[in-house]
Amino acid sequence: MKRVLVTGGAGYIGGTVSILLRDAGYSVTVLDNLTHARREAVPAGVNFIEADIADRPMVEAALRELRPDGVLHFAALIEAGESMVKPEIYFRNNTASTLSLLEAMLAADVKNLVFSSTAAVYGEPDVTPIPETAKLQPTNAYGESKLLVEQMLAWFQRVHGFKTATLRYFNVAGALDGRGEQHEPETHLIPIILDTALGKRKSIAIYGDDYDTPDGTCIRDYIHVADLANAHIRALERLHEHGRILVNLGNGKGFSVKAVIEAARRVTGAVIPAEVKPRRPGDPARLVASSEQARELLGWEPEHADLDEIVASAWKWHQQRFGA
Ligand code: UDP
Repeated sequence: MKRVLVTGGAGYIGGTVSILLRDAGYSVTVLDNLTHARREAVPAGVNFIEADIADRPMVEAALRELRPDGVLHFAALIEAGESMVKPEIYFRNNTASTLSLLEAMLAADVKNLVFSSTAAVYGEPDVTPIPETAKLQPTNAYGESKLLVEQMLAWFQRVHGFKTATLRYFNVAGALDGRGEQHEPETHLIPIILDTALGKRKSIAIYGDDYDTPDGTCIRDYIHVADLANAHIRALERLHEHGRILVNLGNGKGFSVKAVIEAARRVTGAVIPAEVKPRRPGDPARLVASSEQARELLGWEPEHADLDEIVASAWKWHQQRFGA
């Protein structure tokens, strides 16, 4: 049986991918420090190690014992807005801690890695939809902290023979197998809109309506977590063949903040009051993926690209989790 180590496997995306891997017959071990997730969030039927990725001795021991065919590395801080207030915790947790993980992998001779990167590495792109070859010029510290990891991976590949798949996520949403998007505290657009639909918040704040976009609000490319998770398994399985994979994961279609609120109004039937507030520092106006590379290299095809379907999937889960 193939074995994998999943860092951050108690989280929204890491947990969803762990479930798909488990169901595909992998032996899955989740390593998570549980700072942003509870023990109950570790999927059933997987092994669990409570540890921080920066705990070198513990991670190295786990790798030596497990001898995994690959590591899928999700553990990270993920809030662009927070990274503009406390950049240091992003460089510590995302960059320095990942170096520690890479050193542990090197010591244990485990050299296959699937890494969660982000569209935030592009910053304000020159071209839309964004190809992987676009200029990398992050506008927030979160994107920079991930870009630094991408650069380290290139050297681990070149010098130490690592095989790496770097997946640059656009905006992940929706639910699969009873797991949906939830952060503590919540800062992401769709969960906050749905909280407002449930009456748990009075209104949704639109962070800026003076961007250079048709309705003035930021445009993002929303991808269903099921499609995103599926791409990870494909990347893992193609690592041997390709050696290096670097792909965007998005649908290639952009929706403004106002368009997402409209979709949520259609799906939920709720009024969802919205108020325009100042811009959030570090937010690029428009991030839309070219997904050509993922289609070509991974044979990947998104199956849930419709925005209303993505929001409906998130809404179904959100009501079960947070509804009265
Ligand atoms: N956003 C917003 N109000 C909120 C949360 C987010 O207007 O309460 C906007 C945010 O400025 C960005 C988009 O929604 O343009 C998506 O933000 P999110 O934090 O969900 O993801 P990000 O794009 O930062 O990864």
